[in-house]
Amino acid sequence: MDFNLSEEQITFQNSVRSLAERHLSKDSLQRAHDPLFPKDVAKLFAKNGLMGITLHEKDGGQGGKLMDAVLAIEQVALVCPRSADVIQSGSFGPLRTFAEYATEFQKEKYLSQLLNGEIVIGLGMTEPNAGSAVTDLTTKAVKDGDGFRVSGSKVFTSNSPDADIFLIYVRYHEGLNGIGSVLMDTSMEGFSKGKSSKYTNGEEWCALYFDNIYVPKENVLLGPGGFKKQIAGFNAERIGNTARSLAVGEFAYNVAREYALTREQFGRKLCEFQGIQWKFSDMKIKIEAGRLLLYRAAINADTGFPSSKETSIAKAFCNKAGFDICNEAMQVMGGTGYSQESLVEYCFRKSRGWQIAGGSTEMMKNRIAEDIFERRFSQRPNK
Ligand SMILES: Cc1cc2nc3c(=O)[nH]c(=O)nc-3n(C[C@H](O)[C@H](O)[C@H](O)COP(=O)(O)OP(=O)(O)OC[C@H]3O[C@@H](n4cnc5c(N)ncnc54)[C@H](O)[C@@H]3O)c2cc1C
Repeated sequence: MDFNLSEEQITFQNSVRSLAERHLSKDSLQRAHDPLFPKDVAKLFAKNGLMGITLHEKDGGQGGKLMDAVLAIEQVALVCPRSADVIQSGSFGPLRTFAEYATEFQKEKYLSQLLNGEIVIGLGMTEPNAGSAVTDLTTKAVKDGDGFRVSGSKVFTSNSPDADIFLIYVRYHEGLNGIGSVLMDTSMEGFSKGKSSKYTNGEEWCALYFDNIYVPKENVLLGPGGFKKQIAGFNAERIGNTARSLAVGEFAYNVAREYALTREQFGRKLCEFQGIQWKFSDMKIKIEAGRLLLYRAAINADTGFPSSKETSIAKAFCNKAGFDICNEAMQVMGGTGYSQESLVEYCFRKSRGWQIAGGSTEMMKNRIAEDIFERRFSQRPNK
């Protein structure tokens, strides 16, 4: 077993880092406080081969592996935490699931604009009464001629105020096998967005409403029985959340380390106090342990989707580790770390969300327990 990156991977890592340092470092604080999706960064990444890293070259992607996208998201986050969301959007999120299952017609219609950074895609899965229990979703797709009439609503969709198209989970009929997905764009009659609200991380989201929208058959991504395929794609999205959690933790760690090397109290540098040193040792252990879990899931996925077992373990660990590291980094920096002039404060707020988003930590642990005991535990009341 070799724990080292290949020369090619190191070269790629360095080139992403250098691009991020040249273009993203200067405005990283301002970007972190902008509630909207950084479309300018998407255009920059498109020009530099960082959109669609995991998509086939024949589809306009870079033909890379999941691990390449992980290296890219880390290097961007270590310079500009907010810009890492664009790598998420371009290589891990609904775009990745879309590219896997889309028909040639659908790719033709949307893919090049998505990869050029001209339009943004959102994922509508969560509903007011279907969060962790996502299979309770009630957004209905009822056959109408060649297409479907879709009615329902979605909440908490990332980038919803900015997104132009949405991958929407729908129910064609009762039961798990009744779930699939359609592609909607904001121009469809009956599509509307609610008032914007903000997550704790400062980003805006808005409810999505579907009032008897006609969705032509060409816009069906997955028909009935598509749920398992969608969740397989969603595991790639989870790896992006995992990677960003750990990387924003490491970003905060780096800032706090510099602070501890220079800030003096009681006539000594902070790093000379053992109480501070041990915080850094704990942070470092979490970064390195988390990275092994993250890289295992990504490397084993190769060019496909990661396994749900390895993804759940990596996500549960790194989401908590990333948040704990940000929290400790903030503690080391005192009032400076708690102020909005410091990106550590942003990383703290940002990393909190991933313990909820993309399958909460509790849901990841439920999944892990099923592997441990080799049986399925229904979360629903006995019938
Ligand atoms: C920053 C952010 C971005 C998001 N982006 C998107 C997006 O792009 N698209 C989208 O569709 N959704 C998105 N979401 C929504 C997210 O997927 C849901 O918030 C999540 O699935 C949890 O659902 P819920 O909020 O309804 O909480 P609930 O499901 O009501 O859960 C509440 C609490 O109970 C716990 N819980 C529930 N069931 C169990 C159980 N069986 N065992 C143990 N504990 C349990 C949960 O872990 C949680 O702590 C986002 C959320 C956040 C915070």
